[in-house]
Amino acid sequence: MIAQPKASHFVDGAYVDDTAGAVIEVIYPATGAVIARLHEATPAVIEAALASATRAQTAWAALRPVDRARILRRAADIIRDRNADLARLETLDTGKPLQETLVADWPSGADALEYFAGLAPTITGQTIPLGRDFVYTIREALGVCVGIGAWNYPSQIACWKSAPALALGNAMVFKPSEVTPLGALQLAEIYIEAGLPAGLFNVVQGRGGVGGSLVTDPRVAKVSLTGSVPTGQKVYAAAAGGMRHVTMELGGKSPLIIFDDASLEDAVGAAMLANFYSAGQVCSNGTRVFVQKGIKARFLARLAERAATIVMGDPLDEATQMGPLVSELQRDKVLAYVQGAVAEGARLVCGGGQGAQAGLFVEPTVFADVTDGMTLAREEVFGPVMAVLDFDDESEVVARANDTQFGLAAGVFTADLTRAHRVIAALQAGTCWINAYNLTPVESPFGGVKASGVGRENGHAAVEHYSQIKSVYVGMGPVDAPY
Ligand code: NDP
Repeated sequence: MIAQPKASHFVDGAYVDDTAGAVIEVIYPATGAVIARLHEATPAVIEAALASATRAQTAWAALRPVDRARILRRAADIIRDRNADLARLETLDTGKPLQETLVADWPSGADALEYFAGLAPTITGQTIPLGRDFVYTIREALGVCVGIGAWNYPSQIACWKSAPALALGNAMVFKPSEVTPLGALQLAEIYIEAGLPAGLFNVVQGRGGVGGSLVTDPRVAKVSLTGSVPTGQKVYAAAAGGMRHVTMELGGKSPLIIFDDASLEDAVGAAMLANFYSAGQVCSNGTRVFVQKGIKARFLARLAERAATIVMGDPLDEATQMGPLVSELQRDKVLAYVQGAVAEGARLVCGGGQGAQAGLFVEPTVFADVTDGMTLAREEVFGPVMAVLDFDDESEVVARANDTQFGLAAGVFTADLTRAHRVIAALQAGTCWINAYNLTPVESPFGGVKASGVGRENGHAAVEHYSQIKSVYVGMGPVDAPY
């Protein structure tokens, strides 16, 4: 199985390569087969990408917003037309089952292109009357933005970052994770086909070092990262040197709180979605499932029953519901957390092994009797491992849910809507759900508080993060100088 792109990078409207860059082998996680060989960007490629983005951005920002929007909408149409092929490539790149990539990855990317295309022409400034004089404001593009992606939703991340950036008149240089470099190149091709001028969306491949040199370049006005907290801390600090704008979409250890009046089937289904979708490799996952004691036994029994029906296997078979983890590194990390949880005294309810497929697969795994101090309750696993904790009452569970460095997401299941809103108001999290979990429509702002990040992607909120305000004072009379 081969998925070799025409070249490693996409710069100034065309594929380019520089074989002097270190080799990146792209592995299909389900079989371990090498499906493509790329090269890391050399300083010459990085320079070409930044120079072309800088050149192209001014004219792009000067277009009417409707003209920019039309191109984004065309790109969204192309994505939808090619969704089947793009989904297959996403599956090869990530190992996620086709059942997911067909409906989630590129389709949600296309949503972002459509949404920000619609929004762009509606962005206006203000007029602020001051009696005789007045002030007006202009919302301007930032300039050249850098996007750096994680490997779990590589194409969605490329769309979520580039759509608002381009809609508002910026250029973007995007560096995918070196683990999943293929989707962003497709997006670059699609943008050109849709009519985007060369240089406005460039893709450069590489590991952290390539990201590092983009983040500190003086031509860069903004950095948007999706990644782990430690990487976020490094990139945020590096961006601060040049006083650059940042959006940081980082990790989490989000609480999903289930009160004993909740619908059992809905709560079990949501907890499964919140831990097993994409084999658990989702930043906003509800990985600390707090279950009120009155419902705990029934919850665990039904969970084990339903988890046993999850179909693991060939991600290219549309009947498959769970694929492998993305890499050997990730599999080893997840299995080490499973062993650690057993050693710390958590009770294994189901899973815990690799299943018949072995390789990079890990079974859907549930631990009960997890306590707040256990490693499994404190650290992000990024695999299909659910930690179930018990609680007695509302104030106790809120305090325990908030006792973490993270604050990306949170969910509550209850039939008592007053309680639902009260609990959500008290939870320290940027993205919350009531009687639902992990739905992230583009209309809704997405992001975290505390160590989980700064800024928001999607929704009107993203406009703030890809533009800046210029205030213009207009004097309408003689200048009143005291000299
Ligand atoms: P990493 O933090 O390891 O990497 C993220 C990206 O940053 C990669 O492209 C990486 O390159 C790059 N990078 C690494 N070091 C630097 C550096 N010093 N300067 C610039 N760029 C750098 O995350 P993963 O790819 O392992 O993704 C998993 C993490 O992402 C999880 O913690 C998860 O929670 C988080 N995440 C957050 C989301 C959110 O929206 N809040 C969504 C999805 C994931 P390379 O990989 O080549 O080293």
